[in-house]
Amino acid sequence: MTSNAAATEQDRWTRVKGRLRSTVGEDVYSSWFARMDLEAVSDESVHLSVPTRFLKSWIQTHYAERVLTCWQAELPAVHRIDLTVRSPMRCAAPVKDAKATLDERRNDNGNHRGPTELRAVATVPVSASHEALGGSPLDPRLTFASFVMGRSNTLAHAAARQVAEGRRGDSVMFNPLYIHAGVGLGKTHLLQAVTWAGNSGPERKVLYLTAEKFMYGFVAALKTQTALAFKEALRGIDVLVIDDLQFLQGKSTQAEFCHTLNALIDAGRQVVIAADRPPSDLESLDDRVRSRLAGGLVVEMGSLGEELRLEILKSRVAAARVHHASFDVPLPVLEYLARAITHNGRDLEGAINRLLAHSKLNAQPVTLEMAEREVRDLVRPQEPKRVKIEDIQRVVARQYNVSRSDLLSSRRTANVVRPRQVAMYLAKTLTLRSLPEIGRRFGGRDHTTVLHAVRKIEALVSKDLTLSDEVELLKRQLQD
Ligand code: ADP
Ligand code: MG
Repeated sequence: MTSNAAATEQDRWTRVKGRLRSTVGEDVYSSWFARMDLEAVSDESVHLSVPTRFLKSWIQTHYAERVLTCWQAELPAVHRIDLTVRSPMRCAAPVKDAKATLDERRNDNGNHRGPTELRAVATVPVSASHEALGGSPLDPRLTFASFVMGRSNTLAHAAARQVAEGRRGDSVMFNPLYIHAGVGLGKTHLLQAVTWAGNSGPERKVLYLTAEKFMYGFVAALKTQTALAFKEALRGIDVLVIDDLQFLQGKSTQAEFCHTLNALIDAGRQVVIAADRPPSDLESLDDRVRSRLAGGLVVEMGSLGEELRLEILKSRVAAARVHHASFDVPLPVLEYLARAITHNGRDLEGAINRLLAHSKLNAQPVTLEMAEREVRDLVRPQEPKRVKIEDIQRVVARQYNVSRSDLLSSRRTANVVRPRQVAMYLAKTLTLRSLPEIGRRFGGRDHTTVLHAVRKIEALVSKDLTLSDEVELLKRQLQD
């Protein structure tokens, strides 16, 4: 494949993802599609991959049609989407390379040594024994050594370290440790770091499981009548780490999760959990489980600040340079990326991968111009999804000097009608809520009323400069 063909294929893939993102919405997109990769395109079919079986079956049952439609909009000839699970070997592969590279480095005055890589060599046996226990595959790059600390993750990092350094028989300080954050903010990285570090000594067993692995492990064990053995195995674990708990589904799985959690906690074993939301928002879990989860230490990791993003980029480049010594990204380019890519750590990683691919394929140094072109689609200036309707109502009420209950009331005087319309308009544009939902949240109004308000304000802002400034100001307050 020539570099040009590769470039068009990637561009096309980028557009398909953009389309998918706008049809399913940001939340759904980041939950299910953020880790989908393009493997190959042939005349009639497209080959995509995802990292887990669970994602594969979920996408196949819920989104197959939509993925196909999005591709057909680009390539009408496509009639089939093949979705496969990427083998975890991808993650394991760097281990071998790292060993070779490490030996080379020794003769190289120790320049640009990758701390991650060093760690990876030391942990090969950990990975093997961990997987033999039925744990989910671990990525050798995700260690404490490569985890960058910043304001948003100090507490989570400290708690994770504490857990990793605990010894068998130590009393447990907080149980469970529950870490929550949006997509790509470092949950998996931190959990795997705990697993690597905790398993580096001989005396403790740390088991890392994704929630889906827990589900499949359990369901499979039930089918083969070895549920007991599975439970016993779990109970022989010193630290149980469960990632992406929001995916835990099904009544029997939950009941079993609840038993396991109680058994481990009561036995003084440490449990570490990550999810994309706090325990109180895990709607599908029953109250007892939720309160048990909330009873330990609950820590949120906030979005990555610009400084932290810059440090992550630097560490990614350093890691890439271990294998590609000629790869270099000038500081101004890194600063640009740190400023422009605000969304999450995965996009930072993606940006570096693209620059690497591009500079390799075209044998060209990385420039600012190239970077701007390559990462255009990762730059999302505004991110509407975290704004809450209550916040909108509060900010709008304050701006127009009315009360929040005025906004929700049925009063129709001009001094409340306009602010109410503005608030509904903002709710529609800044959140992913549907019109009926917004209507409900504004004192039980009909969705047509909301629609009318949205249209009204849309029409007005294009003509009325004062109103348009006010709306801009409100948006800025809500999004900062
Ligand atoms: P999550 O599990 O929260 O969705 P990940 O742990 O998979 O996010 O992180 C996404 C990417 O961002 C990974 O490549 C990860 O290494 C990187 N990343 C996130 N936070 C940090 C950090 N504090 N230091 C280094 N890398 C980070
Ligand atoms: Mg994760």
